[in-house]
Amino acid sequence: MNLSRHSADADLRARARRVIPGGMWGHQSVARIPADYPQFFSRGQGCRLWDADGREYIDFMCAWGPMVLGYGDPDVEAAAEAQRRRGNGLNGPTERLVELAELMVETVPHADWAMFQKNGADATTTCVVIARAATERRKVLVARGAYHGAVPWCTPYPIGATAEDRVHVVPYDYNDVASLTAAVESVRGDLAGVIVSAFKHDYGKHHEMPTPAFAQAARALCDTNGAALIVDDVRAGFRLHIGGSWELVGIRPDLAAWSKAIANGRALAAVTGNDRFREGAAKIFVTGSFWTEAVPMAAAIATIGKLRATDGIGQMRRMGERLRDGLARQAAAHGVRIRQSGPPQMPVVFFDDDPERKKGWFFCTEALKRGVYLHAAHTMFLSAAHGEADIDQALQATDAAMAEVARQFG
Ligand code: PMP
Repeated sequence: MNLSRHSADADLRARARRVIPGGMWGHQSVARIPADYPQFFSRGQGCRLWDADGREYIDFMCAWGPMVLGYGDPDVEAAAEAQRRRGNGLNGPTERLVELAELMVETVPHADWAMFQKNGADATTTCVVIARAATERRKVLVARGAYHGAVPWCTPYPIGATAEDRVHVVPYDYNDVASLTAAVESVRGDLAGVIVSAFKHDYGKHHEMPTPAFAQAARALCDTNGAALIVDDVRAGFRLHIGGSWELVGIRPDLAAWSKAIANGRALAAVTGNDRFREGAAKIFVTGSFWTEAVPMAAAIATIGKLRATDGIGQMRRMGERLRDGLARQAAAHGVRIRQSGPPQMPVVFFDDDPERKKGWFFCTEALKRGVYLHAAHTMFLSAAHGEADIDQALQATDAAMAEVARQFG
């Protein structure tokens, strides 16, 4: 593939460089995209997407998570379109707000109430504000390497932020009870909350589910200290368990942050909480011009309803397992050593002896050339629109890509 000449993608990059600082911000800036990856896309359907040059891919990023039922899901689109005809942004919310809050309370066991925002960072930040308002304390414990958004209190790239922005943020190590306990001890009397990712899904690292011992210790430490246990379910929410990811370890948080998959690609985030934090949540002032938009809420009601009615999560898990098993077989057949981690529906695949991810990106690029969109460092995502035929077609491409890795790296 050659994107450098006469391609729509190259033209868009050139135009973007003139009118957008750096051509693009964040993780989608050209500086962070491998050389042969397209930056611009034109459309998506089911588990497939097309780049600006019309090339088709079986997609294992799902718009970085939101696409949980597949691009253009007909039921979600019908619900969104019906609401669009009636109105989206009005002087205040519509009935959809109450319906969606009722649905979240019914679906999520820890939730006695829900509030809605736009982005994941709105939700994680709102959780922290509620925890501080309710406890009248300052310190928040955050796992080293965890991602909770690109805002000053927690961004992993703090250029433009100050040390003071995170003066009350205290680090601990995920899945390490001793480290969490020590961090709690260090702030005793001033602990507002502990924020935990749904599972350890740090960029470029093997993924790890929370151990029962860690989850239980987090719950117990928050209880004995009167602090909020906050689960950041922005990335994993509605992919691992319909009631929230920590249902899998049998621990219920006080507050949870949701976004990505909640509305199958429409902009929406949520905070759910229990009655202990209802008053704190009622007294803070948070808002946004678009936080009451009705179309994303109609989409969320349809998305959650369909996930529940169709066992969408089971489908994603089975397809993720099919992909994982196929990749494991291919790696063994080609004599390439890989390690796969994360839940099957949110995998990462790393090659052994590949500290700079050269093999990883080489493999992904070879798969891309053959119509499969993978990522070598970030959590990937399955959707309920991935079927057996899609996985098998993708595996044909990865088999050839794996052969190229064996040839290139021995
Ligand atoms: N928390 C987690 C676990 C995330 O994965 C992300 C986004 N990747 C966020 C928070 C922030 O979400 P957003 O980018 O929508 O602000």
